[in-house]
Amino acid sequence: MSKSIIELKHLKKYYDTSRGIEDVSLKIDKGDIYGFIGPNGSGKSTTIRTIMTLINKTSGEIYINGKELEFDDVKVKRSIGYLPSEINLYDDMTTKELLDYHESFYKEDLSKRRKELVKLLKVDENKKVGALSLGNQKKVGLVLALMHEPEILILDEPTSGLDPIMQNTLHDILLKEKEKGTTILYSSHVLNEVSNICDKVGFIKDGIIIKEDLMENIKKENYTYLKIISNEIDKIKKDLKLKVHKELNNEIVFINTLTPKELITKLKDYNIEHLLIEEVPLEDLFINYYK
Ligand code: ADP
Ligand code: MG
Repeated sequence: MSKSIIELKHLKKYYDTSRGIEDVSLKIDKGDIYGFIGPNGSGKSTTIRTIMTLINKTSGEIYINGKELEFDDVKVKRSIGYLPSEINLYDDMTTKELLDYHESFYKEDLSKRRKELVKLLKVDENKKVGALSLGNQKKVGLVLALMHEPEILILDEPTSGLDPIMQNTLHDILLKEKEKGTTILYSSHVLNEVSNICDKVGFIKDGIIIKEDLMENIKKENYTYLKIISNEIDKIKKDLKLKVHKELNNEIVFINTLTPKELITKLKDYNIEHLLIEEVPLEDLFINYYK
């Protein structure tokens, strides 16, 4: 039986009178990668900072490993590797000094994993942290989040500032973590970014989870784009009764929910110049949720 490692129940956070998050409930199972998707300002970082108890929740419940989280639970915090969206590192230290410092907090020997991560993420340990570009600081942040081999990883927009090759490297690292049984919460404002590695996705809008589903279900959401060029567009529109995605002159793109057989039956007598049925790109699916 799968077991929830992170569970949020009606989590709410107001900053004084302004909304941070309104109602966030979600469940993340052991060994899953959970994509936490939403546009800027939707409440991803607020949710994550509340889980990390960096800020106080207004109401709702947070469970980690089945146990309600208390504000100063050091043991739970140690089981989590956290990458904040805006990293704030000690500028004056070199990366090496910073990693040494972090390592000194642990009884266990972290040096092997640290070395692996530094190599995989191509981190230059000799530069001062303050002199690093945003992307390079992010990589240092990732080494810090991962090097103590936590059971849970919470990564807030981990790839912002990373080039595509580094994004792939990170995804490979995360898939290996998943194999080891690590549970991962991964926030992003782009669905495409996580679609290849996520098991489940939750969409947040204006501080509320508006949809949650398995990635495999989202990928097969059953509609397509149907593009038609014809001088009988108006008649076709009336006949098909489908929603219109785009229209320009005698070219139209429908949001198609009909089967190919139904389409052939309905369209056979029209004068059609061009017809194309296309998969809906994930990004468009994403936009449709936010309409
Ligand atoms: P996301 O990470 O999805 O971009 P945030 O959690 O940062 O979203 O923001 C959610 C909402 O909370 C936004 O309206 C934002 O302006 C507000 N907010 C975030 N942090 C603070 C803060 N420290 N004080 C006041 N409002 C905040
Ligand atoms: Mg954020």
